[in-house]
Amino acid sequence: MKLKGDQTTARAMNRRLILNLLRREGPRSRADIATVIGLSPAAVTFVVADLLEEGIVVEGQAVPGPAGRRPIPVEINYQHALAVGFKLMVDSVECVATDLATNPVAAMRVGLAGHDPDDVADLLAGTVPELVKLAGRPKAKLAGIGISMPGVINHEQTACVRSHRFKWDNVPLASLVAARVHVPVWLEDDTNAYAIAQQLFGLGRQHRNMAVLAVGVGISCALVIDGKLYRGANGAAGKFGHTLFEEGGRLCECGKRGCLMAYHSELSMLRRWREATGREDLGLAELRTALASGDATATDLVAHSGRSIGTALANLVNITDPEVIVAGGEAVSLGDHFLTPLREALTARTFRTAPPLLPDWEDNSWARGAAALVTQKIFDFESSGGVTDIATLGVRSSTSAA
Ligand SMILES: [Zn+2]
Repeated sequence: MKLKGDQTTARAMNRRLILNLLRREGPRSRADIATVIGLSPAAVTFVVADLLEEGIVVEGQAVPGPAGRRPIPVEINYQHALAVGFKLMVDSVECVATDLATNPVAAMRVGLAGHDPDDVADLLAGTVPELVKLAGRPKAKLAGIGISMPGVINHEQTACVRSHRFKWDNVPLASLVAARVHVPVWLEDDTNAYAIAQQLFGLGRQHRNMAVLAVGVGISCALVIDGKLYRGANGAAGKFGHTLFEEGGRLCECGKRGCLMAYHSELSMLRRWREATGREDLGLAELRTALASGDATATDLVAHSGRSIGTALANLVNITDPEVIVAGGEAVSLGDHFLTPLREALTARTFRTAPPLLPDWEDNSWARGAAALVTQKIFDFESSGGVTDIATLGVRSSTSAA
């Protein structure tokens, strides 16, 4: 293939290839990089020199081998900068500061008293210095802030077009935060952000075609197709929870009736369980306890939701054919009581072989997803632009090493 474009474009492409090779496969010598990617050694040396100067990669130790000293490997310096991630929920915000591999170095949760956009922006901006202090890396630069929330997001304008849970229409949240903190800020649908993190450093790292299923307050999915997140024409792809479960059924938060999530989200499972038992005080922890003790009502109810989601998921698999499905969200904590019926229904309805469904048990996964919005920019996994009111503060232009 002949590459078009000027030298800058070629350099940016080489940079992306090299960084992503090091991300996927760990430390490599310059000679190895040139062989694997198919670039000239001179071109590799050129780009690596830039990356070393920026501090994004560092040289490792040369390992003595049978044929003398081996060449010096280069590796990504994940400590180069900090990323901050905020996962907005209805009544609280999960907050993390991570290294550039989205490993948390500080985490906290703050309450959300209301949903006024300026108040939310004030709260997030005020939390950043606390997180950075908690991270205990005074020399590390802040690469940016990623915010994830449920809703339809215009990721180019980094605005929330519509969120039913926050009752927001066209709220430019990223700009509101950037105006207060003066670093680049990204905003993304929470399931999409989670999928980006899984693709970069999580269970989807080795897969170019992947689906993410999230079952929490709502039900949603995200699709990575040929290595790219699929957002659809209007940023509204993945609204899996609003596919039809029962014609004319229960009212959903979207205003329509009979949506899958109106019956089988974690919140809906709890609601149905409270209705079945007549006890308003029951929550997710009690449901887990009931399942562990073999309570028949709880077991049947959760299995029914597992089967219903599995059947709907088979439709998605038959259309998109993912290599794996990563499952996250609160309902995953219901374990095999939920996942086994889900897998059985998925297998029964999948046209060919059902892909493996991998539950994600990690803490802070969703806030890490938000932080991944910052780190993805470094690897150019996505082309989404963050906003900042001081454009020169992007990671790319940094020459300071942590
Ligand atoms: Zn709906």
